[in-house]
Amino acid sequence: MEKENSGQRGKNKLKINKCKECGSYTLKEVCPNCGGEVRGSHPPKFSPEDRYGKYRRRLKKEVMELGE
Ligand SMILES: [Zn+2]
Repeated sequence: MEKENSGQRGKNKLKINKCKECGSYTLKEVCPNCGGEVRGSHPPKFSPEDRYGKYRRRLKKEVMELGE
């Protein structure tokens, strides 16, 4: 039961932003609380594809090192 719940949670990745002004969390681009600027946990220009590519390369390198 617990495993099933955590699995669903992992698939549902919500982008949570935090307001710079009042510090409240929101899923919106602008704070619904004070209308202030929000900041996500990841830089907006960061490409998820690049992230996976980097991760893959790193994994491959680790595997090669293990092979030798
Ligand atoms: Zn706010």
